Amino acid sequence: MKTSRRRLLQSAALTPAAAAAATRTASSPSTIYASLGIKPVINGVGVVTVLGGSLMPPEVVQAMEEAGRYFIPLPELQKKVGARLAELLQSPAAMVTCGAASAISVGTAACLSQGDAAKLRQLPARDGIRYEVIQQKSHRSGYEHQMEMCGAKVIAVESREELEAAINERTGMMFFLNKGEPLGKINAEEFIKVGKARGIPTMNDAASDATPKENLWKYTKMGFDLVIFSGGKALRGPQASGLLLGRKDLIEAAHPAMSPFGGIGRGMKVGKEELCGLLAAVERYLKVDHQAEWRELEARVTSIRGALKNAKGVRTERVVPVIQNEVPHVDVHWDEGALGLTSQQVSEKLMASDQPIHVQRAGKGHLHISIWMMRGNEHEIVGRRLREIFSA
Ligand SMILES: *Cc1c(COP(=O)(O)O)cnc(C)c1O
Repeated sequence: MKTSRRRLLQSAALTPAAAAAATRTASSPSTIYASLGIKPVINGVGVVTVLGGSLMPPEVVQAMEEAGRYFIPLPELQKKVGARLAELLQSPAAMVTCGAASAISVGTAACLSQGDAAKLRQLPARDGIRYEVIQQKSHRSGYEHQMEMCGAKVIAVESREELEAAINERTGMMFFLNKGEPLGKINAEEFIKVGKARGIPTMNDAASDATPKENLWKYTKMGFDLVIFSGGKALRGPQASGLLLGRKDLIEAAHPAMSPFGGIGRGMKVGKEELCGLLAAVERYLKVDHQAEWRELEARVTSIRGALKNAKGVRTERVVPVIQNEVPHVDVHWDEGALGLTSQQVSEKLMASDQPIHVQRAGKGHLHISIWMMRGNEHEIVGRRLREIFSA
């Protein structure tokens, strides 16, 4: 009781700044970015690293601020935060990394070294290491370098037969790209089954797939040995944070592969602020009323579609992507020739607005607009601006 009251008072003291940060809109000036000559943008792309990931809610900022006021033994904090996360996320074990990409690296290092300290130290040298990582061709993610830097050689397969045939005494890991499941010939369950039968650890990169929240335990329960999420995407944790979940022995093997230890991941530093920030983000995420959030997203979709209702030659559509970023989006379609406007031109006009608006060009006469990272009434600004562009 006493502790929670003190925490409450501490948080009350922090609330004004945190609240201001949370409610400030893109139109009100940001002193820090203005002083650097950076213009904040309206994010119609979604949770992407290049625009800053997501925005941390006040609880997360507050946890980072509090964490930053004390010295602590960092490896002990990492262990305790991991244990708490494991409990919250119904995983045998968990650890915080400095992003999903870093989780791929330290997870790969754990699989390749198999908990052997000498093997871990020698990476990326391959002598005596089971260095081959098998991946379906359609599951190439662009993050292969994160495995290769550990000495891994990525072997591409397509069918179950090819997968079975590719496994040999050099195989150290099997990599699965969660969002790639519909594109591959081997689904998650079959992939896991082969891994288990042949004694090869499986890793599932589900970085952008934390919606719905049940996904946070779905894949570990399915049987993947390691599962990865980005901390700075849907979870709204620190941008430089990630989650590595899964088998206890592998998480224990991954710890010494990362900062502050001198392994291959020494350059992947996770500070006390990220550790406490990501924990606070996960705690919040599990409590948030996701249905209410979903209704808010639907309202934004309806608002943007409504703004374009009378725009001639323009058709809008509500779209919920499968697996990755599984939340409502707005797609805008038109005939480029008929309107004399290309996707590129519309996107450039949006970027040239008073408040630059970034959206994804999905093809000819096709914009894909993500609305879940918009703040306050930004969706109205986007709807208005699109209407102006299309009716000009
Ligand atoms: C975003 C993403 C990553 C990288 O995540 P970071 O947290 O930025 O390191 C890795 N894999 C997939 C599939 C992603 O979408």
